[in-house]
Amino acid sequence: MERKNLWAPWRVEYIRGLSESSNCFICEIGANSQDDDKNLVLWRSSHCIAILNRFPYNNGHLLIAPLRHIPDLDQATDEELLELFKLVRESQKALSLTIKPHGFNIGMNFGRCAGAGLPNHLHIHLVPRWDGDTNFMNVCSDTGVVSQSLTELLEQLKLISKEHNLPGL
Ligand SMILES: [Zn+2]
Repeated sequence: MERKNLWAPWRVEYIRGLSESSNCFICEIGANSQDDDKNLVLWRSSHCIAILNRFPYNNGHLLIAPLRHIPDLDQATDEELLELFKLVRESQKALSLTIKPHGFNIGMNFGRCAGAGLPNHLHIHLVPRWDGDTNFMNVCSDTGVVSQSLTELLEQLKLISKEHNLPGL
């Protein structure tokens, strides 16, 4: 059977608009590798990216996301899913070697009602935890205490990555 194409060139703008979409900071960061240090990018892999969260809940809070602007797991390819979770594994290793957390919260939020600050670009939060880190500051003022600068931590994580060949994908 002959394949027929429907040409709809005006859709290009709409489609471009979707991926450049309304201030998606993950897409911004993904498209500008020359600014990786400034943007606190720890790693890039073929399909994914690991970034230090600029507004961390705790020291070492990483965001791991596919480079493609997709909102849900069911739109991710198997390759993306595999890489995403391998990066979670490797991030845990890197953080354990550098800042020695006692535990981790790893999670995903879908939809604003579930707390997603960026509901249209799938991402995994990796939050290191320490015994007693939920102290009075968090409870009384909703203010987390982060005891290390982001750039210093990024340097440490990169050094550890080099030493231990992370991420091993
Ligand atoms: Zn995006």
